Amino acid sequence: MSRLVYLECPECGERHDSDQLQTYCLNCESPLLARYDLSSPIDRNAISARTGGIWRWREVLPVQDESFIVYLGEGDTPLVRIPKISAAMGLENLSVKDESANPTGTFKARGLAVALSKAAELGVDKFVIPTAGNAGGALAAYAAKGGFEAHVFMPQDAPLLNKMEVKAAGAHLHLVDGLIDLAGEQAAKLSSQNGCFNVSTFKEPYRVEGKKIMGYELAQAFDWHLPDVIVYPTGGGTGLVGMWKAFAEMRELGWIDSHLPRMVSVQSTGCAPVIRALETGAERVDYWENASTYAAGLRTPGAFADRLILRAVRESDGTGVAVSDDEIRRAQVQLAREAGLLVCPEGAASLAGLKKLVESDWIRADENIVLFNTGSGLKYL
Ligand SMILES: *Cc1c(COP(=O)(O)O)cnc(C)c1O
Ligand SMILES: [Zn+2]
Repeated sequence: MSRLVYLECPECGERHDSDQLQTYCLNCESPLLARYDLSSPIDRNAISARTGGIWRWREVLPVQDESFIVYLGEGDTPLVRIPKISAAMGLENLSVKDESANPTGTFKARGLAVALSKAAELGVDKFVIPTAGNAGGALAAYAAKGGFEAHVFMPQDAPLLNKMEVKAAGAHLHLVDGLIDLAGEQAAKLSSQNGCFNVSTFKEPYRVEGKKIMGYELAQAFDWHLPDVIVYPTGGGTGLVGMWKAFAEMRELGWIDSHLPRMVSVQSTGCAPVIRALETGAERVDYWENASTYAAGLRTPGAFADRLILRAVRESDGTGVAVSDDEIRRAQVQLAREAGLLVCPEGAASLAGLKKLVESDWIRADENIVLFNTGSGLKYL
């Protein structure tokens, strides 16, 4: 089963017991990262032969007793070629990792599946989450399946469907007159009042573990030779940090060679705190005032894991690109008409960002590029 041994603060190095419920490092205000014993081999081919979505990779996931796993079919999303769009951009090797195939229509399912399963193993049965929208829908669905109580704090002007799916699954919906950071404050308050476990992005250690499996799936899909460039729409940075962690784990396991992808973070010009920090060389991400974008999942004015996001992009020799809502809309239409993919605005932002990188010659025509579509466009109709 799981090779989990402890949790570690990446800033001060302090170890935390993974048999206890943990949140984050209070001294450093930093996320905790799960550390596994990877010293003895794990057979990657045996994992490839299994079924069960993200849970095929159970050795590098935190749940010890599989009876606690809450499974709705998350993971093993397709890698889709978009030849017409690739050709128009002069690219030879472009694909989309299509996360809309996950339960609840976005990759948030991966993270919430793991966070809830592990917390349940440690005795939790009540959860709270602040969300721009999709994480709330995912929490509600997994809580329904697991038989847990769930509270969702969401901006009043979040996509309608996000509100509907939370209510449909029987979770408590709390609408907030502000953005995800205000939702975060109110969720934390409820958590301290009634003991609901707070599964806010990076405030607990295991959502990132669920999302890191995207990196493992990519490695397997490319026969253990990672792509050259990964383009990722960044909100809280869970997937970006998670995949970078997965690559380090796979290297330790001897599954991949030293070739690692350049990680590209894409945000909206209406909320681009990570891109600004990448451009100025800052070590921390400053709060973005008056955040506004139609790509709701990117409307994250601050990032709790800012140091980890910036390190991952820089260590990988990656970069950041900001794209306008108009560019996002155009890319969304193009993906629907020329590739048959009804992507979410965040996913379309990846394509819009890639176009800028091709224009500036940051990418070579023959490089192997993966765009992330993080969710279904159906959730925004
Ligand atoms: C949450 C979300 C994002 C941002 O994800 P992070 O991994 O937290 O950066 C992107 N797209 C969609 C559709 C989302 O719901
Ligand atoms: Zn610390």
